[in-house]
Amino acid sequence: MSYVERVLDELKRKNSNEPEFIQAVTEVLESIKPVLDKNPQYEAAALLERIVEPERQIWFRVPWVDDNGKVQVNRGFRIQFNSAIGPYKGGLRFAPNVYSGIIKFLGFEQIFKNSLTGLPIGGGKGGADFDPSGKSDAEIMRFCQSFMTELYRHIGPETDVPAGDLGVGAREIGYLFGQYKRLRNAYEGVLTGKGLPYGGLNGRTEATGYGIVFFAREMLAHFGEKLAGKEVVVSGFGNVAWGTVRKLNELGAKVVTISGPDGYIYDPDGVTAGEKEDFMLELRSSGKNICAPYADKFKGAKFFPGEKPWGVKADLYIPCATQNEITMKEAELMVKNGCKFLCEGSNMPTTNDAMAYLADNGVVIGPSKAANAGGVACSCIEMGQNAGHTVFSPEQVYAQLETIMVGIHDNAAAASEEYGLGYNLVAGANIAGFKKIAEAMMAQGIC
Ligand code: GLU
Repeated sequence: MSYVERVLDELKRKNSNEPEFIQAVTEVLESIKPVLDKNPQYEAAALLERIVEPERQIWFRVPWVDDNGKVQVNRGFRIQFNSAIGPYKGGLRFAPNVYSGIIKFLGFEQIFKNSLTGLPIGGGKGGADFDPSGKSDAEIMRFCQSFMTELYRHIGPETDVPAGDLGVGAREIGYLFGQYKRLRNAYEGVLTGKGLPYGGLNGRTEATGYGIVFFAREMLAHFGEKLAGKEVVVSGFGNVAWGTVRKLNELGAKVVTISGPDGYIYDPDGVTAGEKEDFMLELRSSGKNICAPYADKFKGAKFFPGEKPWGVKADLYIPCATQNEITMKEAELMVKNGCKFLCEGSNMPTTNDAMAYLADNGVVIGPSKAANAGGVACSCIEMGQNAGHTVFSPEQVYAQLETIMVGIHDNAAAASEEYGLGYNLVAGANIAGFKKIAEAMMAQGIC
């Protein structure tokens, strides 16, 4: 049995109730086998066994009172996964399906994503099984304050710096920051994704989406193709999808779909810049988590209830919703429609078997941990801005973001080439991300 198989066996035994975590780890470990073969000292130092075990896992009670005076209790999490290259860094997700397996998969992915940015940030993730949809503003505030009342003792600008993720945007970050400041009596950059008046970074809101499009542009350029004139299927309609649509429009591509948990929108005229783009923000802030109203508002657009957009023919597919929305069924549809490029916007949107099937059928895949790293990269720039008591201009941020995304693409491509895998960005990103973590961990001894 190989080293990787042995570690995966043990992982499955210990975490059998966390399929998403097992999926994420399997995907990474299988593709770094060539690095492990070259470096037998890693096995001797039990490096993989240590990498798959979070340094610390915090589970806590989040009690709060709803608008009817009823006491509600949710479960909060912070998984401090790996601090080899910097303080734990990663978002908070508030969604009803959140449990340890989701937070652990996200935290594990974050280790390699953050490493790929080239910046000094470790990997972590957190959240709660709290459903923000339909909650009043006051309920959201009370929930965030209660959540932070426990979390504050575990985090800090040099220890662990949370940010947003699904269900956690600028409003939630504001309430969390306010409560942290009260409890600690310290004004410090402990959260990123903050509002501009209190330490937030110009450009952070659109950073993830813009970064995804820069990454897709580099993938296409490798094959001598351009984004201009391309038809693009996008899923989701939240912050990541919005930034993606904006940049795609700017670069002359045409976005023909967006989607929500209620179904998808097909807009043959394109989700164009201006009113349509802005309507995505309205959909988000409505708090209803549905995209159907887009078809009522814009003539020519059609709503497909309960369906996903993967059967729509396009040149490029960019999932921006949530994990595992592309399974074998969707992958088969995409291949049938002649899909050439898949650039993953959301974290782990593709199941491992669907990913293998797409790759076998010649689809070029930009993996999420590389393609969506622009968000957390800009979060690290926000940490630097706060630590330096300064403010960066949007131009400074956009320029850095673009350089970072091109760098991630080129490093992943180079790592794949180095190990004789051709242009395989999935393996290349895992290898490049892993190498830096492995070297840092080896240098720091058994810890
Ligand atoms: N939640 C985002 C991600 O998946 C951003 C994390 C951050 O900015 O810390 O990368």
